[in-house]
Amino acid sequence: MKDLLIDHFQETVNELLIRHKSILDVLSKLNEASARVHRATVKAVTQCGCLKIDAKKPIIPEDATILQLKEIFDTHLKGELCPNCKDTIEKEMGRLLFYLTALCNHLDINLYDVFIKEQKALDTLNIFNFT
Ligand SMILES: [Zn+2]
Repeated sequence: MKDLLIDHFQETVNELLIRHKSILDVLSKLNEASARVHRATVKAVTQCGCLKIDAKKPIIPEDATILQLKEIFDTHLKGELCPNCKDTIEKEMGRLLFYLTALCNHLDINLYDVFIKEQKALDTLNIFNFT
């Protein structure tokens, strides 16, 4: 059984994608959308200030376990998104999803199947799947 929400989203993208229908446009717009998510996140730090980045090289003991590594590595983020930045980033993530879904449509890939395969991979790898 397919997920109705995701299938509906994929069908809507298929209906609305007219102007940038070429695979070349889809690939370049997907890249652009990714960069815009990146930029909106950076602006939350550099223009709004609701987020701060506090990064340094982690000190990793030679005998550290995988569970300890999870505690040692952090996001380097301090603070939390204000409603305005959150809204902007969500909109940019939506565009990213739109073009990822458009790529799925062009390649005859079901977006729900992508979610399921990735979830199964994560379930199998569990804690050992740290990237
Ligand atoms: Zn903000």
